[in-house]
Amino acid sequence: MDAVGKMTEKNADEDEMLKWAKGYATKQGWTLNTDEKQLSTVIRGLVRNKKKFGRLYCPCRLRSGDEEKDLAIECPCMYHKDEISQDGHCHCNLYFKTG
Ligand code: SF4
Repeated sequence: MDAVGKMTEKNADEDEMLKWAKGYATKQGWTLNTDEKQLSTVIRGLVRNKKKFGRLYCPCRLRSGDEEKDLAIECPCMYHKDEISQDGHCHCNLYFKTG
């Protein structure tokens, strides 16, 4: 694939991930980070992990390498609901509480 083709594919993956995250946020009554730069960093990290590991590992947490344990850090991770209710956002600053 040429460079342009690769770029287009990458953007399509990011668009799809963004749509997925938006859909989940809406379903929960949350919003996504309104800082575009921070948001796209997390989205890119998720796309990268999906490609590399076949799993949506959290881009802001360390994997243990143990698949069973690392289920806890697949987005949306085991911790995000507590973090959002306590801090107003998840550790990665992807999902935000509204209001
Ligand atoms: S901290 Fe946020 S972005 Fe990271 S896995 Fe949890 S919900 Fe997803």
